[in-house]
Amino acid sequence: MRRSNDELNKMRKAGKVVAEMHEATRAAIRPGVTTMELNEVAAEVLAKRGARSNFLNYHGFPAVICTSPNDMIVHGIPGDYRLKEGDIISVDCGAIIEGYHGDAAYTAGVGEVSAAAQKLMDVTEQSLWAGIDQLTIGNRLHEVGRAVQRVAEAAGYSVVREYVGHAIGTEMHESPQVPNYWPGSPGPTLKEGMVFAIEPMVNAGSYETYVLDDEWSVMTSDGKLSAHFEHTIAVTDNGPEVFTVL
Ligand code: MG
Ligand code: MG
Repeated sequence: MRRSNDELNKMRKAGKVVAEMHEATRAAIRPGVTTMELNEVAAEVLAKRGARSNFLNYHGFPAVICTSPNDMIVHGIPGDYRLKEGDIISVDCGAIIEGYHGDAAYTAGVGEVSAAAQKLMDVTEQSLWAGIDQLTIGNRLHEVGRAVQRVAEAAGYSVVREYVGHAIGTEMHESPQVPNYWPGSPGPTLKEGMVFAIEPMVNAGSYETYVLDDEWSVMTSDGKLSAHFEHTIAVTDNGPEVFTVL
């Protein structure tokens, strides 16, 4: 749906809080830190900014961020996992300001990572920006997925199918969904004031997934690495406006 200027301003504020959560958690990533400690760093940002968490208690999720190391794709629960040199860690953050949501994720290396891991992160982030570039008035929504898929597959990677991006506003997950691949139809026409969370999940191997017994953690079926980058972006008459940056 299309958001008014007043609504977009609230979403800009929520986006800034999410960007601050990124900055704070990134600064805390190092070997020996637990994923629960990253959650605490993110919770402090929410408290400082008077923001609510859209992740905490979402279908029973127990934390304010998701932390997904290595072959975990998304939805990892922060806990006693200790980051180690050479890991990659995906951190997904969200915030609510005055009833409006922001949602964004990044993957970072812990200490020194392999060239292969670095390339996967770089390509996944590039695929996000290729998708964002498609968010222009009059374009069709599924061009986002086509652009993401083109970048990821050109590098020999695969794009996760079961988990996708989404519209966002007064709920974190609104319709329509935004696949990170070409779903066979062009989708809705983009209009000024629409806001989406675009979030490619790119696997080094196959796109197949499974969920751990905790019923949250989504893993690559082949045990290979996965990366995840996400921003919340509005369609404006000046082109795509990314809310989840400082
Ligand atoms: Mg997210
Ligand atoms: Mg999202």
